[in-house]
Amino acid sequence: MARLTFRGGVHPPRRKSETQNLPITELPLPDQLIWPLEVPPGTRFIPLVHKGDRVLAGQVVARTADGFPLHASAPGTITSIAPRPVPEGPEVRSLVIRVMEETGTPGAAGRPETHPEHGHESFLEKSPEELRHRVLEAGVAEPFGRAGFTAERLNPPADASPSVPAAAVHTVVVNAMESEPYLASDHRLLVERSAEIVLGLRLTMRMTGGRRGIIAVPSDNRGLLRSLRKAVRRLRSVSILYLDSKYPGHSEGPLLASLGLGTDSSGSRRYARTGVRVQSVTATLAVTDAVIRGLPQTRRVLTVAGNGIRNPRNLSVPLGAPVSACVSACGGYASDTVLLLHGGPMSGAALSSDAVPVTSRTTGLTVLDGRGFASLPETACIRCGRCADCCPAGLAPYRIEAFLLDGLENLARLEGVASCIRCGSCAYICPAGRSLVRMFPPVPAPGREAE
Ligand code: SF4
Ligand code: SF4
Repeated sequence: MARLTFRGGVHPPRRKSETQNLPITELPLPDQLIWPLEVPPGTRFIPLVHKGDRVLAGQVVARTADGFPLHASAPGTITSIAPRPVPEGPEVRSLVIRVMEETGTPGAAGRPETHPEHGHESFLEKSPEELRHRVLEAGVAEPFGRAGFTAERLNPPADASPSVPAAAVHTVVVNAMESEPYLASDHRLLVERSAEIVLGLRLTMRMTGGRRGIIAVPSDNRGLLRSLRKAVRRLRSVSILYLDSKYPGHSEGPLLASLGLGTDSSGSRRYARTGVRVQSVTATLAVTDAVIRGLPQTRRVLTVAGNGIRNPRNLSVPLGAPVSACVSACGGYASDTVLLLHGGPMSGAALSSDAVPVTSRTTGLTVLDGRGFASLPETACIRCGRCADCCPAGLAPYRIEAFLLDGLENLARLEGVASCIRCGSCAYICPAGRSLVRMFPPVPAPGREAE
């Protein structure tokens, strides 16, 4: 069988041998939680509670103007509604709660003992509209893709470009590629909750009309997913496909290119053009929880790892928990000076403080003490072309950088800078230590102004 791969990409050390074998454990509820009322790019929530109000776990505490809910991830008292720093950038208006003591773990309550392999067929017969309603009301967030929220993507808006007609969904892909070094939370979920993920995929197929379901996993994990293979064994419409393990195989464009379902690597909206819907493992599981158990999405699983953390772990974290609580649960920093990254070491953003909250977009936390991914001293570009060879979007990053350094943003645009998926492969491969992508302007967000 031909290797399923994409053009370009790099092979950083995987460094997953430890994290892939760590079972998921729950982070105890911290004293305080922070729920940002703005989620990039451009989603804004309107609070339904006031300072001093008591809230229950799972209660809707805010909604966007078009009704998308934000749920409390723990019971407590609203202590303030004020600007707070968030992982993605400057301070945004946030709900801050003091968690009530001696409370149970939100999300676990109400979870039935029945295994998802049994008694779920009736849910697959419910109407797509009813299923979509349940997912919408559960506030299922989608950390991959710029559109932001799964429920929205189940009803994709007409593409901004009139030349690109929307297509009916024919295939749903669960993106379990997780090609960033260290990060292994998706892998652990596939090991520990495989039947529920397969069910979430089938429910999503029912909601979208997709006839084919694919679970895309890295070929390196081929022998590690016995329970997943068992879960799909009798399903003719669902298959596991093993894709080349190189980075950034988890990005939507390279993923679709590997599957032969797309030709370029730039699109966040390719699902609308090609009829393929890509969904994260986390969102797929949240669909199951929403439909079968009526649970809102109030937690997410993430890996905390790197040579700057004492005890790496895969943690199930209540949304809004401070990053510092995750670090403490892992035994604290291993060094006085560390680099803390929101995400993996290839494309993660450096955090200046660990007071920021975990959000639905926190795929992992990487802590480096300088020995992990030491950067080269930056020297002049030698025009070796390696950055262009590895760019999955087919760009020439050295040319874009040169234009931007000369203040020629128009020429950088003509060179295709807007197609950059900010994977960081070019900076990783550059023998001159040039940071390249870090000076590229942010990609303009497709509008989802809720207010
Ligand atoms: S890899 Fe670095 S040195 Fe080589 S062309 Fe690109 S920017 Fe220049
Ligand atoms: S230019 Fe953008 S898409 Fe291309 S390798 Fe660099 S970061 Fe990745």
